[in-house]
Amino acid sequence: MPELPEVETTRRGLRAAVEGGRIAEAVVRHRGLRQPVPRGLEQQLAGATVQSLDRRGKYLLFECTRNGHRSGTLIVHLGMSGRLWLVDRDTPPQKHDHFDLAMDHGRVIRLRDPRRFGLVLWQRGPALEHPLLRDIGPEPLTDDFDGAQLHRETRSRSAAIKLAIMDSHLVCGVGNIYANEALFRAGIDPRTPSKRLSKARCDALAREIKAVLGEAINAGGSSLRDYVGSDGMAGNFQNNFLVYGRAGEACTRCGSMIRETKQAQRATCFCPHCQKR
Ligand SMILES: [Zn+2]
Repeated sequence: MPELPEVETTRRGLRAAVEGGRIAEAVVRHRGLRQPVPRGLEQQLAGATVQSLDRRGKYLLFECTRNGHRSGTLIVHLGMSGRLWLVDRDTPPQKHDHFDLAMDHGRVIRLRDPRRFGLVLWQRGPALEHPLLRDIGPEPLTDDFDGAQLHRETRSRSAAIKLAIMDSHLVCGVGNIYANEALFRAGIDPRTPSKRLSKARCDALAREIKAVLGEAINAGGSSLRDYVGSDGMAGNFQNNFLVYGRAGEACTRCGSMIRETKQAQRATCFCPHCQKR
């Protein structure tokens, strides 16, 4: 599933091709995504200019203007299997290519989403007031998120710390892979009740969340299943995983065997020696 680094990699890869560009045409081939693609979206987008391509959590926000005035925001979410990338205008669509944004300059931003858990929506009012966006917690890579905030928000939470940092109300965009990796790097057992973490350990965890997400973005994301960046190139951060997907292998720090368990149906990988409650 594309996580925050993959979405941010996609945004950076597409920015130059869309920002300031005019949309020639939008093509919807399948409206049955996680929510139906709104009727009339094609008319909203044709002829509009993309002022900026932003990201909030795992949502991509194409801010559109028409005749110099803001007309709305195209909101795209990649769901479980979505991929948004650039193709030439004459590239024939394949079976799971559900949405195209054809730019005036001849290139096309194409959404491929075999499992159709993605979203293509239109928001006329301010993008951040959309029901899916307005309750999202702070961005992990900004100063809105730090150890003090994490400590404060976990004082009354008994749930395991891994589940807390994956709760998008507390901090957005920390998915399963990067939660596993950040907890290992901070030396924290993923099953630790959140409220038992000291301020110092919250500081360490917030620092490692930022570090691992930043490194993954710099590496172009992680290539899992068939994720590739907007330029069609595979990211390579999966080569840097220290615990995720390494159950049964030796810990790179202490040599103990990495263990795997499940939390909320998701795989948790950790080193029982390096990670303490
Ligand atoms: Zn270890």
